[in-house]
Amino acid sequence: MDAGANTNPDAGLAALERVDMSDLLTRIERQVRPLCRRGQVASYIPALARVSPDKFGMAICIAGGGEYVVGDGDEPFSIQSVSKLFNLAFALEEIGEDIWGRVGREPSGMSFNSLILLEQENGVPRNPLINPGAIVVTDALLSRQPDWAEAFLGRMRQAAEAPGLAFDEEVFASEERHGDLNRATAWFLKAKGNLINHPDAALGAYFRHCSAAMSCRELARAGRFLIGPSEGEEICRSPHQRRRICAVMRTCGLYDAAGDFAYRVGLPAKSGVGGGVLAVSPGRYSVCVWSPALDVKGNSVAGVEALALLTDALEGAS
Ligand code: GLU
Repeated sequence: MDAGANTNPDAGLAALERVDMSDLLTRIERQVRPLCRRGQVASYIPALARVSPDKFGMAICIAGGGEYVVGDGDEPFSIQSVSKLFNLAFALEEIGEDIWGRVGREPSGMSFNSLILLEQENGVPRNPLINPGAIVVTDALLSRQPDWAEAFLGRMRQAAEAPGLAFDEEVFASEERHGDLNRATAWFLKAKGNLINHPDAALGAYFRHCSAAMSCRELARAGRFLIGPSEGEEICRSPHQRRRICAVMRTCGLYDAAGDFAYRVGLPAKSGVGGGVLAVSPGRYSVCVWSPALDVKGNSVAGVEALALLTDALEGAS
């Protein structure tokens, strides 16, 4: 059982320390590798299509220290929508609860780039973890800090303890060239009065943070802030806000498969079309998995299965 259902997270953590984590991750890798070619690597951003579907990496950071990495867990990949959860955290820090005046916090039940609800709901995106919501959050941050993309990178370098962390320029240029749907979204938001900056500026920053290249180890480290009050102090220190970010991840983090993911894995998480999924077990660990081939909803096939195996295996360790 994960810590979300654990009445005493410390007891769960003590049990976790008795698990041979290296062995567990190695077994999971062996089990899911055959799934790596089950889905399709994202191709609507052409630069993503060049990534081999045979990649698989996984990294876990345990509360209080301890880090375990398997497979291609140290190879940088395009974080894409995983960036949206960090952007939300930064917006809650910088802007606070006022951000909810511009974006909702309900699951959309639609694909991440759908415009249907946006029109029906008058330009207020359902949540910050789908494209329209993330563009609004980026716009709000950009209004505070004109070089927001660089600031984002700086914060991520600190949180991931990765001074060399950079944007993937090829992915950035590719998405910018093929980003007409996001362009339509940004202009629609502008028309409805929910975009402050010029759509090109908001999208420029949005494409940038989506193009950050990070490894599983780096993302798991950056996600430590969601484990609990004394973890990952670089981001969003308020326990109250951290808990709320987890709530949004639980309900909205896996596109229109959030319900199925909650059933199979049961952890707050955020996926991206680069094939990464970052999940957290509050009080216990953060974990990142990467496998580029996606299912029809845009989630990593082998990645989601790896997380399901992990939580099943740790059920007894709570
Ligand atoms: N940059 C991607 C887009 O805007 C992010 C999509 C995703 O990872 O969900 O389409």
